[in-house]
Formats: sequence, C-alpha cells, structure tokens
Amino acid sequence: MTGTLYIVATPIGNLEDLTFRAARILAEVNVIAAEDTRHSRNLLRHYGISTPLISYYRERENSRAKELVARLLAGESIAIVSDAGTPGIADPGAALVRKARAAGIAVVPIPGASALTAAVSVAGFTSSEFLFLGFPPAKSGSRRKWLETLTIYPWPLVMYESPRRVADLLTDMLKLWGDRPAMLARELTKTFEETAQSTLSSLLGHDITLAQRGEYVVIVWPMVAPDKGGDDVDGLLRWYRDQGEVSLKDACHRLAADLNLPRTEIYQRALTIWREKDDL
Ligand code: SAM
Repeated sequence: MTGTLYIVATPIGNLEDLTFRAARILAEVNVIAAEDTRHSRNLLRHYGISTPLISYYRERENSRAKELVARLLAGESIAIVSDAGTPGIADPGAALVRKARAAGIAVVPIPGASALTAAVSVAGFTSSEFLFLGFPPAKSGSRRKWLETLTIYPWPLVMYESPRRVADLLTDMLKLWGDRPAMLARELTKTFEETAQSTLSSLLGHDITLAQRGEYVVIVWPMVAPDKGGDDVDGLLRWYRDQGEVSLKDACHRLAADLNLPRTEIYQRALTIWREKDDL
C-alpha cells in the first residue's frame, strides 16, 4: 500500500485558523515536510502535535521530492506545509505534487487559510472574476514591463508583495495606469491587521502605513472611463468600445454587474454608442 500526500493549509497569522481536519492529519501522518521547520514547530507545539518534521524549501524541492516520493511508495503518509497559508500558492509544493501524481500516489488537499482568499473575501468584487498574479518581478525594469502586459486586462488584479517593494509597486502602477481604484490588505488575521480601499494615489499618500514591515496583498481594479467618474454609463461604454478588448455584450454584462443596473437598459445605450463609432 502506498501512502497519501496531504497538502495542508496552515494559518497566515492567527494560530486559530487551522481546521480540525488539518490538525488531525498533521497528527496522524508519519512525517511533515515543512518550508521552515522552526516556524512550523511553533504551530505544532500550539496544537500539541509531535509528528516529526523535515525541511522542504524551494532550493531543495526537486531532490527532496524524489526522497519523499520514495517514502510515500514505501507506505508512509506525508503532509506538506508552508510557512503560512496554502502550499503551492506562491510557495513550494508543486514539484512534489507533480512527482507524486506521476508515481500514482494519492494527493489530497486539506483546504484552509490563504492570504489570497482572505483578501479577496473582503474586497467586495461585484463579479466573481479576478486575476491572481503571485509576486510581481522584484527589479523595477522587469516590473514595469510586466505591468505593461497587464494593462488590457479588464478584471481586478490580485498580487502579493513584500513590504520593501509595495510603495514602488503602487508608484509604478500609478504612473502607468493613472489613479485606479486599489486595495491593500496588510497583516491579515494578525494583531495589526489593516485593510484600506481607495485609489493608488491616496493609498500611497495617507490611507495606510506603508511601513517597511508586514505582509501585503495588493488589489488593483481596472480603470473605468478615465476622467468620467465611475457611474457615467455612456462614458464607460465608450471606454470599453474604444479599448476594443471586449464585445458589446461583454461590456454590458460587466457594467450591469459593476453598477448594479438592469442589463437591458445598458444594452440599449450600448447599441447607440457602438453605432456612433460606425457613423464617425
Ligand atoms: N501560500 C501562501 C498563501 O496561501 O497565502 C502565500 C505564500 S507567499 C510566499 C507569502 C506572501 O503572501 C506574503 O509576502 C504576502 O504578500 C502574502 N501574505 C501572507 N500572509 C499574509 C497576511 N497575513 N496578510 C497579508 N498578506 C499575507
């Protein structure tokens, strides 16, 4: 009998955010592969779990994965945890998952905390679409090029960023995209948790302590109709039309959701506005 590989989500701050099932699995497996064993030992101590830990970090992912697959094939069960949140989301885990699957081993998710879902849950997206991007490139030149490739996306963009670079990231976005609506979620579930939602310039200015500390999720919304204000339906429709990235139908669909208006009403305006362009 081969063992099972469990991908276990752990808290992103508040130690109470571990599920009952996660605690049971961590106590039952033969070994826990952890990104940082010292960090995970605190969590295990809190829950009175004494399962042995071995280290599993990015630089050793491939060699460790081979070793762990051999143990799984020999019948041991293994849990993998990262320092915070869900392994495999901007964290080690993927190499072991792929190798275990290729070897026919059962890979079981034990869902729970993630900074991504925590931040999105308090962002108030009106549609269920968003784009998660992990970490932006660290160097400013590559980051700017990377941001340029994202300009056309019509969805909220969600990313992780280190406290040392978050102000530079917001500044680059402001230069490239103008003053888009944005949100910072800092230190979620921890003592100094802070969330602030306004625009890029005011987040940079006053709303939140951009201290070089803490952990951040950054969300930026697509710009709608620059200079027109957020609820000018005609302006927004013209903006969608001129961007040329979405069809008339999709533009109506998005605006109806964003502005909470009946789609038929927006559709009538859209027909006129799309026709305007044909008349030009
Ligand atoms: N796998 C993790 C998850 O599912 O949340 C993310 C790991 S990634 C290496 C770490 C990044 O997640 C941090 O740099 C930060 O951007 C974000 N993050 C983690 N914990 C956070 C928290 N408590 N509040 C806000 N952001 C957090």
